[in-house]
Amino acid sequence: MRHYRTIRYRLHPNTSAKAESLFALSGACRHVWNHFVAKLRDDYAFYGECDYRWYSNNKLFTVLRHGQKDWLQDYSAAIVRHTLKPIEVAYQQFFKGQGRLPRFHGRYTHNPSFTCPEKTFKLNNKTLHIQKIGQVGLSGLNPYPDGEPVQVVVKQELGNWYAYVMVEVALKGEPRPIREMGIDRNVGQVTCSNGVVYRLPDDERGRMLQCRKKRYQRMVARREKGSNRRAKAKHLLGKTCQKIAKRRYAWSHHTSKAIADKYTTVYMEDLNTKGMTKAGRGKSGLNREILKSGWHQLEQMLAYKTNVIKVPAAYTSQRCHECGHTEKDNRKTQAEFVCQACGHRDNADCNAALNILAFGNGATARGDGAEVRRSVKREMDTFSPDIILGH
Ligand SMILES: [Zn+2]
Repeated sequence: MRHYRTIRYRLHPNTSAKAESLFALSGACRHVWNHFVAKLRDDYAFYGECDYRWYSNNKLFTVLRHGQKDWLQDYSAAIVRHTLKPIEVAYQQFFKGQGRLPRFHGRYTHNPSFTCPEKTFKLNNKTLHIQKIGQVGLSGLNPYPDGEPVQVVVKQELGNWYAYVMVEVALKGEPRPIREMGIDRNVGQVTCSNGVVYRLPDDERGRMLQCRKKRYQRMVARREKGSNRRAKAKHLLGKTCQKIAKRRYAWSHHTSKAIADKYTTVYMEDLNTKGMTKAGRGKSGLNREILKSGWHQLEQMLAYKTNVIKVPAAYTSQRCHECGHTEKDNRKTQAEFVCQACGHRDNADCNAALNILAFGNGATARGDGAEVRRSVKREMDTFSPDIILGH
């Protein structure tokens, strides 16, 4: 099996001509994307079907490049035609009933970007060479010096250029003995079945950034649409959002590493169903959205660091993990869990995490507690967690 990792470098197009050529290539890719999205949309609307295959669009692209739109010959054909790949994937998904049709990329709403497939770029520690553009300086650390670069996505974010390099890596290490854990995700924290709680960063700087973000949002809202002053405020808002996202990203990496170092299998609830069943719980609206996206990030990181298995979310907070008795009244308050049948007392989140682990091992909500396999010994984690629940 192949394993991939992504490295993000900052690009330094030192001359304005170089920066402009990056921007122009992104523009060409965007133009081709919009051209084919429009064509396929019209075909689909008119005939009820369309030929979205990479193979067919590729041929049309060649015709286009040597006829009607010969200005495309100024750019690398391999890079520009690679834009058609995601269109094929999106249409395949759409006809499977997942996702929607690809949408147009607006000049002002879409970050300028293009993807360099294999053989269109050369990479070393100092520079990235792109076909028909030339050398562009870069900075950043490479944690996978032995990795083989496969693909580069070049992207402009808030005025700076970045290269996201996908590298193929060989994983070292021997297979580890199986150790399993359940994780309960709540508002602002994750609780593990071994009693360890990881809290989202909630410090002075985080609150300051949130305040700043709100201030800039108000600033954007007040200023006139299309004006330079609004564009400036938008830039400031973007910078602040980027800082917040970076902090969240670092937290997700720290937490997932701490978990993945110790456990080979992690059970989690299916969050979508949980979001619906526990709609009244915790914060709502935008806050919930932010939290949700954060959980998704943590989940993805865990998925490539260990194995993640999803279990149905129903009854995880109502079931007693000691005896298997499921009742609504079991959960006394947000934090406290008292079993009505056997009198077992526990922290509500920790109980839920243990239930998720039990469900992962084949227990059912209404079933008898005896069938639950107890594979987890409670112990202290070496990575400094925020809280260790007393057990
Ligand atoms: Zn009980």
